[in-house]
Amino acid sequence: MGKQLQGQVALVTGSSTGIGAAVARALAEAGAAVIINYHSDKSKGDAEEILEEIKSAGGDGFVHQCDISKEEEVLNMFSAILSRYGTLDIAVTNAGIQQDAPFLEMTLEQWNAVIGTNLTGQFLCAREAAKEFKRRGVDGSRSKAAGKIICMSSVHEVIPWAGHVNYAASKGGVKLLMQSMAQELAPYKIRVNSLAPGAIKTRINKDAWDTPEDEKKLLELIPYGRIGAPEDIAKAAVWLASDESDYVTGTTLFIDGGMTLYPGFADNG
Ligand code: NAD
Repeated sequence: MGKQLQGQVALVTGSSTGIGAAVARALAEAGAAVIINYHSDKSKGDAEEILEEIKSAGGDGFVHQCDISKEEEVLNMFSAILSRYGTLDIAVTNAGIQQDAPFLEMTLEQWNAVIGTNLTGQFLCAREAAKEFKRRGVDGSRSKAAGKIICMSSVHEVIPWAGHVNYAASKGGVKLLMQSMAQELAPYKIRVNSLAPGAIKTRINKDAWDTPEDEKKLLELIPYGRIGAPEDIAKAAVWLASDESDYVTGTTLFIDGGMTLYPGFADNG
């Protein structure tokens, strides 16, 4: 991989584990300094380990604890980024959670927790990033764009999901949050896009691939015949963050092995 992000600064929320960790590593490998955001004290060690890896490969960055659903903590995180690096070029609003329950039993706490992290958290981080991108404007020595926002959506921005209405509603919300931001921010040369993973092997969906039976059932939903890896998403994040995708804004890139192709219809329905 080339160094197409050399000299740029990237924030990746929820990057102590899973997809976020892979995105942080890949952006660093492409030359960006990376802010590894983690949520709770127990994730601190994982976040520091990823930063160590990045540094021993010659990269740069720092770790920062922040609950992205809390406005004050997000503002503090952005202050820390600006005081360390002066600006920001790339925001990957990745952090997300699931709290599943049948609709009739879903509590308001479960609803609010998922909407608060997956939708409001992405709104807060994208808003603060966009303010800085607009303030700085285009600096051709960094990138053709003033900044790049990459939202982490899901195939569930289009596939309804019984038993997970809070999650599906949050990702459906991310779809129009992303598109509306893209429309509003394009005149400032800020690009906004989403990545929509299908089934990627991380702890968030461990129940779906944990046993051979579960894995077999999950594969029935994936025409391409394999479960995704965090690196599948990370490679696309590097592309969306780079000038290689300079004319791409307002788009959701599905990375799902064909999960959104209605696999149930493959044998004529
Ligand atoms: P993960 O659980 O490994 O990662 C989620 C990360 O978000 C964790 O590091 C967690 O600590 C962090 N986080 C949670 N709440 C937070 C908060 N309030 N503030 C800051 N950080 C917080 O799971 P993952 O699969 O890597 O998920 C990453 C993103 O990808 C999520 O938005 C998820 O919805 C999305 N996604 C994942 C899949 C998949 O199959 N794994 C599919 C579609 C979408």
